[in-house]
Parts: sequence; structure tokens; C-alpha cells
Amino acid sequence: MIRINEHYRKLTASYLFADIARRVAAYAEANPHTRILRLGIGDVTQPLPPAIITAFHEGVEEMARAETFRGYGPEQGYAFLREAIAREDFQSRGAQVEADEIFVSDGAKCDTGNIQELFAQDIRVAVPDPVYPVYVDTNVMAGRTGAFAAGRYAGLVYLEGTKANGFVPDLPSVPVDLVYLCYPNNPTGAIITREALSRWVDWAQEHQALILYDAAYEAFIRDPEIPHSIFEIPGARKVAIEFRSLSKTAGFTGTRLAYTVIPKECVGYSADGTSQSLHALWHRRHTTKFNGVSYPVQKAAAAVFTPEGRAQCQALIDGYLANAARIRACFEELGYFCVGGDNSPYVWVECGMDSWAFFDMLLTQAGVVCTPGVGFGACGEGYARFSAFGSPETVDEALERLRRIVPARS
Ligand SMILES: *Cc1c(COP(=O)(O)O)cnc(C)c1O
Repeated sequence: MIRINEHYRKLTASYLFADIARRVAAYAEANPHTRILRLGIGDVTQPLPPAIITAFHEGVEEMARAETFRGYGPEQGYAFLREAIAREDFQSRGAQVEADEIFVSDGAKCDTGNIQELFAQDIRVAVPDPVYPVYVDTNVMAGRTGAFAAGRYAGLVYLEGTKANGFVPDLPSVPVDLVYLCYPNNPTGAIITREALSRWVDWAQEHQALILYDAAYEAFIRDPEIPHSIFEIPGARKVAIEFRSLSKTAGFTGTRLAYTVIPKECVGYSADGTSQSLHALWHRRHTTKFNGVSYPVQKAAAAVFTPEGRAQCQALIDGYLANAARIRACFEELGYFCVGGDNSPYVWVECGMDSWAFFDMLLTQAGVVCTPGVGFGACGEGYARFSAFGSPETVDEALERLRRIVPARS
């Protein structure tokens, strides 16, 4: 009898995006002449910049000729790409990361989801609330939690984001071995200061813990005081793994390229207390289960790190940041408490009512779609996420409609 992994049965069906789709479809049917404006999506909308497309085409052409054709590439990624990443993303910011500490992959979703395979079943895991659901669900699948009740899984430590802490959770007050952090944050748009991140690194060193740092939105940071990488923090190389992706940085959500940095000093511990290289474990895992990203995509990715590609990607992000600033300004003018939107494509807005009531109000009165904050965790109740990834025209029209229907708060 083929038995299943029972832990999968604990997963709550992710109703969030299905629920949104259902309500939007019902509204669309009842209002066929209203153009629905989507400020809910976590996907980019603008095309790949020209320098990247040129390199992508070159990669395809090389595959067409016997002299330049490539079959299986190195599992960790081509050296030309890893060297560009190490130099441009890390060394140029004073973060010591070498090319051979970088693992190129086809997504930060897979990497943040798969990394937990390296750790023991009975470690204590902490996740932020609200949270990017991948961190939670992959630990549920692996059997590190109990049942789901009242919005939470038993056995996980939830680090609460609140208005009081500006959605930057405090250090855990209970023992924890593994913590997921994401800055700039999805869904809240919150950022972390160098001082606060240093406290996390010190905490991890003190507790022989590990930080999984998701920096997928790093390219949206404009304030020079905010760290782009956890490896800008002294001591982090021993206690942190960082995840990066070109999805939001360069519009690669449909092209697929990400990378994970595991410094050579980064360690976990065996039951007997001896330290083990996490770089070596992930190398073993990656080379066993992954055969590399396609060559043309890696060629396209390398163009992101050229001066031309960099400038074009920055321009793309500047456009999204301008959208975010207008969204935030609109809600602040109406008296709403907001987080994010300045170094992030997301604006997190306190609704003044429950998340779904606010969602329905915006949809039915203005034809505007947001994401109910409660879908990201119990602490998201009463909040909504607005995404800046639409076109400027879509954002402006949505804000014009919202100004007419959203009640002012004091
Ligand atoms: C979009 C996003 C990613 C990127 O995932 P990919 O699989 O690389 O597209 C990673 N983490 C968070 C929190 C995200 O929102």
C-alpha cells in the first residue's frame, strides 16, 4: 500500500489567492464594464530591459552552433555569473563573499523551501508573522509542526509584527535554532536597520542558531544606511545563509534565476556537538538534486551585473518605487498608518476594519484589488498589502478611485 506523507494533510489549503480570485471573478461578472485595477499582485509587469534581452539572444544563438553549444553546465552555476554576482552584489558593498560560495538556482522560492532539508527534524523554528508562506509550509511538509489551529501551527515560534514594533519583530523570548528573516519584507515592506540586524547576528552567535535571510527585495533599497546583505554585518558569515533572486530585481519572475550564498564558515552542529559545514551539505544536496539553470538564462542574468544592465534595472525599479510612493502618500493623506513603500514595492496599510471587509469595500466600490493582510498570518488581520508592480497608469487610476471611496481616518 502506497502511504502518503501525513504531514501534508496538516497544510491548510492556501485559500488566500483562490479566495481573492473568486471574489474578483464574481465582481467582474456583475460589473462587466468596470476595468478592474490590480494592486494585489506580487508579480512584476514591465518587460526585461534591453541589455538583458540582447544577452539572452546571444545565449540562444550560441546554443545553435556546434562550436559554442553547451550541454550540462556546472551545477553551482557558470563561473562568469557567480564572479559577477560576488563582485557586484557583495564585494562592492564591503561584504566578503566569494564566487564559490554562491549557488545559482532557478528560484528563491525553491531555495528558501528546500534549505530546511539540511536540518534535524526536532529543531525549533521561528518565522515572522505576517510571513511569506513558503517558510512555514515547507516546515509543515517536513513534519516540524503540529496541527493548525486558530491561524497558527503548533510547534512553530511566531515572531510578531505589530504596529508597536513597526512590523520588525523582536528577538525570540523562547529558545530557537532557526529563524527566517526577510528584508525588505514581503508582505509588510518593512526594512531592518544595521543595528537591528546586528542584534540578530549576535543572538545567532550566542545561541549557535542560524539565520535564513531572504533579500529578494534588496534592489529596492534606496536609503544608504540600510544594509543590502546580512554579510555586511560582522560575524554573519558563521551564522547566516542569504537568498537572492533576479525575479524582482530584474523582472525575472518568468525567466527564473536566483542564488543562495552559504559562506564557507557557516556551520550547523551534529548531535555530538561537532560543527559541520552547511556549505558542504548544501553543495552535496544541490549537486545531487539540481542540474543547473539554462545557459541562455545565465547569460541574460550576467547582463544584469554590467553597467548598462544595472542602470536599466535601476530605472525599472525606480518606476515601481515611484508607484509605491504615490500609494503610500495617498493613504497617509487620508490618515492611514502605513509601513513600507519607500525601500520596498509593498505598502502595508492599517485598514480600520478587518482585512476582508476592507478588501470587499475596495473591490465592490472602486473595482480595486488589494491583498488582505490576514492571508499572511494572524498579525496581518486589520491590514492590507498594496503592491507597486502595476503600470503607473493603473496605479494612478486606482488611487483616484480610492480617494473617492475610502473613508478618511484621523
Ligand atoms: C518574490 C519573492 C521571492 C523570489 O522568488 P523566486 O522563486 O526567485 O521568483 C523570494 N522571497 C520572497 C519573500 C518573495 O516575495
